[in-house]
Amino acid sequence: MQVMPHADEFIERDGFIADPLAELNAGQYGVLHKYKSRVLVILRGGCAINCRYCFRRHFPYADHHFGPAELEQLIELIQNDANINEVILSGGDPLMATDKQLDQLLTRLEQLPQLKRIRIHSRLPVVLPSRLTQELAHRLAASPLQAILVLHINHPQEISPALKQGLALWADAGITLLNQSVLLAQINADADVLTELCEALFAARVLPYYLHQLDQVAGASHFAVSDEVARALLHQLQVNLPGFLVPKLVREIAGEPSKTPL
Ligand SMILES: *Cc1c(COP(=O)(O)O)cnc(C)c1O
Ligand code: SF4
Repeated sequence: MQVMPHADEFIERDGFIADPLAELNAGQYGVLHKYKSRVLVILRGGCAINCRYCFRRHFPYADHHFGPAELEQLIELIQNDANINEVILSGGDPLMATDKQLDQLLTRLEQLPQLKRIRIHSRLPVVLPSRLTQELAHRLAASPLQAILVLHINHPQEISPALKQGLALWADAGITLLNQSVLLAQINADADVLTELCEALFAARVLPYYLHQLDQVAGASHFAVSDEVARALLHQLQVNLPGFLVPKLVREIAGEPSKTPL
């Protein structure tokens, strides 16, 4: 359901548009600076999965190559804004970059004393657990920047023994592990599935962070869950789980200064 194209993608529904987060004109060179303290870098256009609900499914990645010139622009942006203390590597999937490329980027960012954290958002380990190399974990752990890996796991079945092993490597190295999920009809919009997901995440040493309402991207309306159902699911999670395993239910609204809790 998450990866195979489906005829329902041709359904046109009001409000489901190509660029729900108004990003197309936002980032000039692979950098999205929408939130005060953090800047998001579209490091790699490619992804290991073409999720059918992807909110960037119409994003012109080819126009957003992040090369040496773009890196210099990023450094300048950060240096000109003392509020920025965290760099988020996103995509696409930043773990499509090699360890060497990530090392070079880190080395540059580490020279900026205002930065406290480096965050990597990735779904790639779900399909390629071996990408969680010990080498990269140790490189990140050795950085003066605190490193966070935010996984993107939607269903407990995505947490394979191999993924658990990779996550244990990173947890042992001292990397903070968080997870974000997208609430998806027919996949995880079910209190038992979400409860099991949060439990399985913690068993794999990952803390649930966000549960996102779907971004209303054209072609994904069959995955949408109403706010009413989403709130009822959250309520059930609060009943089923300890507080620290309940993700924040949020939506991204273009132009808002942060994610918006439901
Ligand atoms: C979601 C997002 C972030 C990170 O937000 P957090 O609430 O800090 O996780 C940063 N930049 C952009 C453009 C985002 O969409
Ligand atoms: S991994 Fe994320 S960016 Fe890549 S296709 Fe899936 S939702 Fe989109």
